Amino acid sequence: MRDANASQTPLARGVSIAAMLRTLTAFVLLLSSLATHADCGPEALGTSRVLQLPRAAAAYGTFQHPALPLAPNEVVITFDDGPRPESTPLVLQTLAAQCVKATFFMLGQEMLRSPELARQVRAAGHAVAAHGYIHHHFPTLKAQDQLADLKLEQQAFRTVFGFEPVAWRFPYFEEAQPLMDELARQQLTIMSADLAIEDWLPEQSPEMLTARMLERLREKKGGIILMHDAQDQTARALPMLLASLRREGYKVVQLRWD
Ligand SMILES: [Zn+2]
Repeated sequence: MRDANASQTPLARGVSIAAMLRTLTAFVLLLSSLATHADCGPEALGTSRVLQLPRAAAAYGTFQHPALPLAPNEVVITFDDGPRPESTPLVLQTLAAQCVKATFFMLGQEMLRSPELARQVRAAGHAVAAHGYIHHHFPTLKAQDQLADLKLEQQAFRTVFGFEPVAWRFPYFEEAQPLMDELARQQLTIMSADLAIEDWLPEQSPEMLTARMLERLREKKGGIILMHDAQDQTARALPMLLASLRREGYKVVQLRWD
């Protein structure tokens, strides 16, 4: 009996190979998604996609700037003011358990105090970015002192990570023109946010922080969420915060820079 394929035209053979490849690709995708669920458990929030941003003199976050290109109900999770040994490890543990990738805006002074912890954040697959060497009110500083803080922050990144940051978030979102001009000149992206959960206020329970986050997310239909890994109460609330994102159908987007 003749091989059925022998009677096919080269075009038909090409089509059947394409169909096989599609089947194989679907199988590999299925396996990788099963692996993800096995690692995180079926209740994990997970990370739905990566948003790759070019290195550019751009600014995002609707507190002050245009929005990131996110779909409705997509969120970007960000943490400021760390690394802090008392609370950042618990944040990392909760993110790992939920397979969630976030962006950490770090203070240079804290990075030099806890360089191993800073490197652990990055090794876990999170993006790391700059929040100043010291948590200054930048508009109160002279231009030369603003630029000096940027230099110290860049030096801290070189010391701890071996590279310079490509994104910057102003402490208190207080922007100052001399530093903004310098960030633009060096093509650093300014990252503001779309909503905060006021986790710097005293005695915020997980329930209070979660209710506030969900209320703001409903108003904004998703966006960049500001939290603080340097706050014990935020680290404690994070399991509830992430569970509520999953329950309400929000999708986590991971930022990455070229
Ligand atoms: Zn801060």
